[in-house]
Amino acid sequence: MNSYAYYNGKFAKRDEITIPLSDRSIFFGDAIYDAAIGSYDRILWEDEHIQRFLDNANKIGIKHNLTKKYLSELLREVAIKSMIDNYFIYFQLSRDLPIRTHSANGCGSNLLITVDPLEIKPNFTPLKLMTIEDLRYGYCDIKTVNLLPAVLSATKAENAGCDEAIFIRNGIVTECTKSNIAIIKQGRVITYPKSNRILPGITREHLRLICERISVPFDERKFTVDEMISADEILVTSTTKLCKTVGYIDAIPVGGKDPYLASKICENMYKEYVDLSLK
Ligand code: PMP
Repeated sequence: MNSYAYYNGKFAKRDEITIPLSDRSIFFGDAIYDAAIGSYDRILWEDEHIQRFLDNANKIGIKHNLTKKYLSELLREVAIKSMIDNYFIYFQLSRDLPIRTHSANGCGSNLLITVDPLEIKPNFTPLKLMTIEDLRYGYCDIKTVNLLPAVLSATKAENAGCDEAIFIRNGIVTECTKSNIAIIKQGRVITYPKSNRILPGITREHLRLICERISVPFDERKFTVDEMISADEILVTSTTKLCKTVGYIDAIPVGGKDPYLASKICENMYKEYVDLSLK
């Protein structure tokens, strides 16, 4: 696969990039990241992805001198150099220290960018999901590379023939391993409130904007597993899925009771991606 990468000033094929052991993403997962999709020199919702990246670096106090403008130009440069027309672009800022010690005082930083081919096709087949206990920690709002619970849960879901696992904390639905989740009930879209228990997805925010545009109430409140199972529709949002409906949860048929509204939302979301490619 023709993947491309950038690390601290070096542009090369992904296989040719090496990471030094001073990079604390290796020993401590001491890094934040963001990821977006793009087409040629255009990145979907670029401004929001870069802003979240810089906010996350700030939240965990990584020292750097990156600006929004510099990052925007660099991401575009890496994307163009990759020669990949439609892609997934990942960017990570890690702390750097030549010795392995827990304290993060005195660290520098490293910037990693990778570009992989990805073209999103208009596939609106409902997803199959499974529920799983949310064993993650209290910093779920920060996009760090400490993803072990997400990795284990996503693997379990895939081995069970599912597309995603839904995290459940004390009977309440929080989000999925790599997506946010919402339900549609009596014409309203309902999703877990922004807090330290979920990642504030950029796609979740665009779901809110689409709801605003088409005059659908968007409620940020907690809902239970039972409420989800009996909801009219269930929607999953993420950068790479955009917006998808759900057909099964734990092998129980779900949703399908408000297909008009669900498909209107999913199609509106897909249109934002198509519009990017046509710009
Ligand atoms: N929740 C989690 C835990 C995630 O890792 C992600 C991103 N992959 C999302 C939600 C969706 O965020 P976004 O819409 O910004 O891709």
